Amino acid sequence: MSHPLWSGDFYNEGTGKDDIFDTLKEECGVFGVYGHSDAASLSYYGLHSLQHRGEESCGMCVADGKEFNYHRGMGLVKEVFDKERMASLVGNMSIGHVRYSTSGDSRLANAQPLIFKYRDGDLAIATNGNIVNAPQIRHELEQSGSIFQTTSDTEVVAHLIARSSKDVVEAAKDALARIVGGYAFLIMTNDKLLVASDPHGLRPITMGKLGESYIFSSESCALETIGAELLRDIQPGELLVLDKDGLKEDRYTEPQRKALCAMEYIYFARPDSDLNGSNLHASRKRMGSRMALEAFVDADIVTGVPDSSISAAIGYAEQTGIPYELGLIKNKYTGRTFIQPSQELREKGVKMKLSAVRGVVEGQRVVMIDDSIVRGTTCLRIVNLLREAGATEVHVRITSPPFKNPCYYGIDTPDRKELIASNKTVEEICREINADSLAFLSPEGLISAVGGDNASDPSGGLCLACFNNDYPTTLDFDGEEKAGCGC
Ligand code: SF4
Repeated sequence: MSHPLWSGDFYNEGTGKDDIFDTLKEECGVFGVYGHSDAASLSYYGLHSLQHRGEESCGMCVADGKEFNYHRGMGLVKEVFDKERMASLVGNMSIGHVRYSTSGDSRLANAQPLIFKYRDGDLAIATNGNIVNAPQIRHELEQSGSIFQTTSDTEVVAHLIARSSKDVVEAAKDALARIVGGYAFLIMTNDKLLVASDPHGLRPITMGKLGESYIFSSESCALETIGAELLRDIQPGELLVLDKDGLKEDRYTEPQRKALCAMEYIYFARPDSDLNGSNLHASRKRMGSRMALEAFVDADIVTGVPDSSISAAIGYAEQTGIPYELGLIKNKYTGRTFIQPSQELREKGVKMKLSAVRGVVEGQRVVMIDDSIVRGTTCLRIVNLLREAGATEVHVRITSPPFKNPCYYGIDTPDRKELIASNKTVEEICREINADSLAFLSPEGLISAVGGDNASDPSGGLCLACFNNDYPTTLDFDGEEKAGCGC
């Protein structure tokens, strides 16, 4: 079968549909410290390790027992916090945030942590996730006089806490019990740090210890960076309270069906992080190995789309005996750019983010491992990069089931009508992405690879809603306006 080569623009920097990585966007990352004299420095390094979860803005609020010192800005951690700024962030308790935001909503007012003054003092909140019923609660609060400063869902929780006559712990419990969604919250007052996970544990948050200090992070890789020991994941419905009396392990609701976001395993989290006791690199290798068992194809080399699919490609190669090769290289130094290439350069195929390695793929039958297909445009471009570099066959293996439904729990996904798997068969997608063959990992294969085989829970403790439309929470809103990230 002969395939026409891609004849459109190859410019692949930028965002949206022009971005060769128009895949799913990470949500946000949170990092908290309790009981360390240099909480700000620890947070700096922690947030830096979580940078892949959000590059648009970041912030940190530090408490010294009397007042808050904080700073937020647009940009990367290393850009927003310089030496002078760090010197001003004095205190032994802190919460920090890195944020990805959907376009049009990328403004400083929404950068977190959000900071408020309320009846009992200062309140800072940082969150990762999305509150499905935030619009309804916000509407109710506005009707009764609340004035919102931001468009962030997180502010809804601040208002619920501030309007309560109870102490902050009880007020936070009531607030968390009212909201529906997928989230991890860090809430700080002048003398307390509260940490909460949603009733399904959709968004990850881990607890570690550094000496006598407690550390909280969206991913365990940030604990490793600062030399902290990983203690455990925060459980669904838990509310931890840290204050002068130490750590109190409480909860605001009973846990419901465990439904940790499967895309964290597949794509978002760093390979050096652990989720639910499993290392991500090892889990992804098992996905690749399982993929090989489910959809073997005879080929000369296996290559993974960097960075998230390299582990799975190694697993596929180990299982099949087909050598793993670096057929695709990602340029690490892309980031934001102010220079748009001219039309002439675009037509010449300026490839700023990803290149195929001609010396590796030329004349070879290639198995290309990727983590997901969203619109299909990314995959088409990468398949064509390989073909242009001389690959004789390109067989695409996707280490997730077909992505058919939008996410309402903090992942920025296109509308269902833009999700190619929602509208086309596997054969049609294969033709659309110009591949010689295409296969997706089965849901059972995914569950087994992440160690979730459990007769009493067919979903293996995972949220699989973007694959099987089985959303763990109620979605009591009209249309799809609350999809994505509400941080
Ligand atoms: S719908 Fe998909 S992306 Fe969203 S939380 Fe569930 S598994 Fe993750």
